[in-house]
Amino acid sequence: MKKNVKLYGIIACFILVIIAVGSYVYHQQQLPKMVFEKQVVEVELNHAYEVKDNIKSYYRSNIEDYILKADINYAKVGDYTVEFDHKDTHQCFSYVIHVVDKIAPEFDVVEKTIEQNQEIEASTMVENIIDDSETKVYFAEEYDFSLLGDIEVEIVVEDESQNKTKKRTILHIIEPDLLAPEITGVKDRTIDQYEKFDLMTGISVKDNRDENPHLEIDDGGFDSQKVGEYTIRYIARDEKGNEKIETCKIHVKPKVKSEGKVVYLTIDDGPSANTRKVLDILDAYGVKATFFVTGNGSDYRSLIKEAHDKGHRIGLHTYCHQYKQVYSSIEAYYNDLEAIGEMVEGLIGYVPRIIRFPGGSSNTVSKNYTEGIMSFLSNDVMEKGYFFYDWNVSIGDGGSYKNADFYVNQTISQSSGVSEVMVLMHDGFGCEESVKALPRIIEWFQREGYTFKLVDEKTRGFHHRVAN
Ligand SMILES: [Zn+2]
Repeated sequence: MKKNVKLYGIIACFILVIIAVGSYVYHQQQLPKMVFEKQVVEVELNHAYEVKDNIKSYYRSNIEDYILKADINYAKVGDYTVEFDHKDTHQCFSYVIHVVDKIAPEFDVVEKTIEQNQEIEASTMVENIIDDSETKVYFAEEYDFSLLGDIEVEIVVEDESQNKTKKRTILHIIEPDLLAPEITGVKDRTIDQYEKFDLMTGISVKDNRDENPHLEIDDGGFDSQKVGEYTIRYIARDEKGNEKIETCKIHVKPKVKSEGKVVYLTIDDGPSANTRKVLDILDAYGVKATFFVTGNGSDYRSLIKEAHDKGHRIGLHTYCHQYKQVYSSIEAYYNDLEAIGEMVEGLIGYVPRIIRFPGGSSNTVSKNYTEGIMSFLSNDVMEKGYFFYDWNVSIGDGGSYKNADFYVNQTISQSSGVSEVMVLMHDGFGCEESVKALPRIIEWFQREGYTFKLVDEKTRGFHHRVAN
C-alpha cells in the first residue's frame, strides 16, 4: 500500500508537469509574433528605406498593435535598430539597418599646364565631383614636376567610406616664364595747352602668358594746363613679376593764339591785403596786369613797387577816392591826381601817364559836385599828356559785393565773342571774392586763346560815353 501511494504521487506529478508544459506551449502559440525577412538590412547612404518592407509576417495581432521605434539617419553611415513593440504584451521585435556608402565618387578630369617645378594641387585637375559624402583628391603617386613635357597623371577621388575612383589625365609642364609684357604705342607727343589728353590713348599691353598684365603709369606730374615737357613712364608687370618699362615725353606747347584775341586785365583801388594774393595768382599763371592804384592802404604801398618790379604796369587812379572831394572842382581833381602821381613816383621812379577816372569817364556821381566836369576833364587830361582808360568788361565787383561765381560768370558772359577785352576788377579792401574769382577768370581767357597785354599809351582807351 505504501508503495502504491508513492507511485500515484509520481504519476500525479508527472501529469502536472505535462499539463504545465502543455499549457505553456499552448499559451506561447497564442502570443503575437513578428518575423523579418532579414535581421540586417543594408541601405545605401542617402537612400530612404521603408522599414515595414522587411516584415515577413506577423501573428495573432493587427499590424496597428505594433509600435514602431526607429531613429535612422540615412545621411550618415552607421547601424540603426528598428523596433516593433507590441502595445499589450510589450514584446519587442527588432532588426538592424546598416547604412553604408558603397558608391564611389564620379568626376571629370581636365588637363593642366604648369611651369617647371611649379606646385599643383590634384584638385585643380578635377571637376564635377558627384558623391554623397566629403571627398578628397590626390595624385595616385608622386610625380616629378621638374621634367619638361607632357606627363600622364592619375588622380584619385576618395569619399569618406574609402570608396575610390581613379582617372588619368595629362599635365603639361612648360618652361618658366621669363618674358616681360610688351607695351605698344608709347611715343613722344606734342599737344596743345589745355588739350584733353588721356595718357592711355593708343597704349596697349600684351604678355606671352598673363592675359591681364598689370599696367601702371607714372605721369611725371603731367598737367595739360601747364606748358612744359613731361616724362611719362609706363610700367607693365605680369603675374610672374616680369616687368617692362617704356618711357616717352609729352610736350605741352602754348595754345596758338591765331585769332589775335587780347585781354587787358586792369585792377583798381589797391593796394590792400588783397594785392599780395593777386600778385601771387598772377605769378602762378604767368600773367601780367595793370594796376590803377590809390593812396589808400598805406601799409601796402611796397606792393606797388613789387608789382612794378615784377613787370606789371602801374597807372594812376586817385589818391583819396572820395568822389565828393575829387570832383568838387577841376582844381581839386588835379590836386588829387598830382598827389597820387607823386606817391607813385616815390615808389617806382616816375609818374605814370596812364590814368583811370574814379567811377570811370561815364560816371554821373560827379554831377552832384560839379556839372559837366567829366566832359571837360576827358579832353583836358589828354591835352596834359595823360591817357585815360575805361573798360568794356567789368567782373561786377564795382558796386555791391557779390561772390566769386557771380564774377566769373559775369566775366565770361560779357567777354564771350569779344576779341579785345579790357577787364575791370578791384583789389581794394573787401574784394576777397574778386581775388577768389581771379584764377578762374585767367583760366577762361587762357583757354579761349587770349593774349594778356599791359596797358600803355598806345592802347586804345575803351572810352565810355561821357555822361556829365
Ligand atoms: Zn575805383
